[in-house]
Amino acid sequence: MNAVLVQLAYLAATALFVLSLHWMNTPKTARRGVFSGVAAMTIAVLATWSGANVTRHWWVLIPILIAVAPGIWLSLVPLTAVPQRTALSHAFGGLAAGLVGTAKYFYWLNHETEALTAFRMTAIILEIILGYLTFTGSLIAAGKLQEVKWIPQRPWVYKGQNYVNLGAFALAVLFGVLVILSPGTTTSAVLFVLIIVLSLNFGWMLVMPIGGADMPTVIAILNSYAGLSAVAMGFVLDNKLLITAGALDGSSGLILSIIMCRAMNRSFANVLFGAFGQVAKKAAAGEQKQYKSENAEGAAQMLEQATRVVIVPGYGMAVAQAQHKVRELYDLLSKRGINVTFAIHPVAGRMPGHMNVLLAEADIPYERLQEMEDANSELPQTDVALVIGANDVTNPAARHDKTSPIYGMPIIDVDKARTVMVIKRSMNPGFAGIDNELYYMPNTLMLFGDAKAFVGEMVKNLSGAGH
Ligand code: NDP
Repeated sequence: MNAVLVQLAYLAATALFVLSLHWMNTPKTARRGVFSGVAAMTIAVLATWSGANVTRHWWVLIPILIAVAPGIWLSLVPLTAVPQRTALSHAFGGLAAGLVGTAKYFYWLNHETEALTAFRMTAIILEIILGYLTFTGSLIAAGKLQEVKWIPQRPWVYKGQNYVNLGAFALAVLFGVLVILSPGTTTSAVLFVLIIVLSLNFGWMLVMPIGGADMPTVIAILNSYAGLSAVAMGFVLDNKLLITAGALDGSSGLILSIIMCRAMNRSFANVLFGAFGQVAKKAAAGEQKQYKSENAEGAAQMLEQATRVVIVPGYGMAVAQAQHKVRELYDLLSKRGINVTFAIHPVAGRMPGHMNVLLAEADIPYERLQEMEDANSELPQTDVALVIGANDVTNPAARHDKTSPIYGMPIIDVDKARTVMVIKRSMNPGFAGIDNELYYMPNTLMLFGDAKAFVGEMVKNLSGAGH
């Protein structure tokens, strides 16, 4: 393909990438967003390949074919595993950028030393530092989310850790500057390898002290690192599409992490260096507190007598795949003239929009979904708040307990409803690893069981012969 056509194809791919992000804004057009993203990537690969010497580069097909199988396998993971799957994608993206930067440096070092200009070297150094740290950081993030046994969920911390981490990073940057200043020497080649080792180490050391509950935010931050690494790679390879696609990737990751930090009322620094979730066990080992529980029949009766019900879904609804049963419950209650709405916390579940996607999948009318602020203003006039597998996002400690790791996170004020019913399997803590004082309040009833099974039982009671 001639050069002009290649550039036009790049332009088309960039436009499709932008549209793809735009369409992903709402569940209604998200599918279209996915298709246009795939189309953009296909155009990008084909145009780049045809711009090079296709017959000489036929072997590129081999790694593509090899990569397709794990790619398909990864795309089939359940929705609850999407965050760790995304982390793996970033890990591979970072590794690819790091390897390309390494290959380019050593190729130019051995064949064309004059090509190692200060500009290119700066881009290469940025590319490999960001690429390699994203690789190991994302692997640890994926492991924490997957709850792999040998990776601790809780923050792994020791005294002076931040200094060690920042020291490793500063050393990598210092070596980078030295390599940029004189890239063609044997010493520089050695320093280059040391930068790789330091960056690989910095990546996992950066993520280990961060608790499991913060992993989705960390993933979004690593997403922006991978994007920036791709931008640097675009400069190294002189490929404009890589620069624009990398910038889109980097900025969308950054925006996503800002949204999540805001929803949790936390700063970037607190997420990265706050060792959130560390105090966990202490709270869980406290004195035995009293709570009340109810069975499905009793809970169904409470719902039946209500005029206004707010359902608060959380991660447990996703794990149990209870959304279709929840839809049945919604139908039965609505038919009885009960006003049912769904209160959506921005970080309920394990990724932004997690609950919206699940409820949309079950065809729950979109206008019945309420954002946190709207739901909170109505909760004091609500008869029953039914919490389904949500925990941290309903913990009143976030409002008043300054020692709580979730202090300051806006929550859904279910405790202000006349009655609160909480479906979960046990008294175990949620993702932040802390006890929930909501469960011991006088107006709270615990409904123990798997969310799908328990809602199913309530549905049976509401539609069954007994009523
Ligand atoms: P949590 O992780 O706090 O709680 C989920 C609860 O679901 C658990 O306590 C668990 O209790 C229960 N559960 C698990 N499986 C089932 C099941 N099969 N049936 C019934 N209950 C079940 O979830 P939330 O949604 O309340 O909060 C999300 C957490 O993730 C917050 O800490 C948030 O900060 C964090 N986070 C989320 C992000 C996002 O983008 N969504 C981003 C960053 C962080 P039990 O084991 O007793 O059943």
